[in-house]
Amino acid sequence: MRKPFVAGNWKENTDSRSSVELAKAVVAGSKGLAREKVHVAVLPPFVYLSSVVQAVSSSGVAVGAQDVYFEPKGAFTGEISPGMLKDVGCTYVLCGHSERRHVLGESDELVGKKLTAALGGGLLPILCVGELLEERDRGQMEAVVARHLKTGLAGLSAEKMSAVTIAYEPVWAIGTGRTATPQQAQDVHAFIRNWLTDVYGAEVAGQARILYGGSVKGDNARELMAQEDVDGLLVGGASLKADEFVRIIQAAA
Ligand code: PEP
Repeated sequence: MRKPFVAGNWKENTDSRSSVELAKAVVAGSKGLAREKVHVAVLPPFVYLSSVVQAVSSSGVAVGAQDVYFEPKGAFTGEISPGMLKDVGCTYVLCGHSERRHVLGESDELVGKKLTAALGGGLLPILCVGELLEERDRGQMEAVVARHLKTGLAGLSAEKMSAVTIAYEPVWAIGTGRTATPQQAQDVHAFIRNWLTDVYGAEVAGQARILYGGSVKGDNARELMAQEDVDGLLVGGASLKADEFVRIIQAAA
């Protein structure tokens, strides 16, 4: 049985006060659900990680980062290592979010290095994969998703794969209000699970968690979660409102 997983990506939002308030409201709203029925994580900006970790302490809500660098330390101005994230109490980290790939120009190879380093540092990576609208329109969706999986998981053993969560996030659905239909999401999730079966075998693929992300709201979470291969949700905009995010957690649970 795959336990559902809901993660809130706060992106470049909140401040020192609102990040703690939001984290506390998520803890209060998900009491009795978080950890017991659904894994819940919030992913604040780096600078608020410590205070959010403190705000959720002794609750079922975990904390993750939105990015990580692959080098453990050294002359890499502005970068944050897996060890640093672990040190401040992070459990999860996003790797290859589409905004990092398409706005910040991260290559497939860099995403793979980050994921390997995150695992090596004891973090649980969430590998984001997904196609642009023009790639979908050109019939390249499967090729793009397969390339993101291949490069993101390069060299990873089946054993290590069990620590990785995949998030399918069609770029055309992120922050646009245009959600993939439940059937579109299911089709790609099934494609991802088949890809994992081919590479890692049926057991690992059957246990792998595959999240959907892209304009998820309280109103569409239930239908998306009803799909056989949708194991959870990666939520951007709607994770900034505690009530809305809690509705999504309830739908997933
Ligand atoms: C995201 O940033 O991962 C995301 C899915 O954003 P939104 O829910 O706002 O589309």
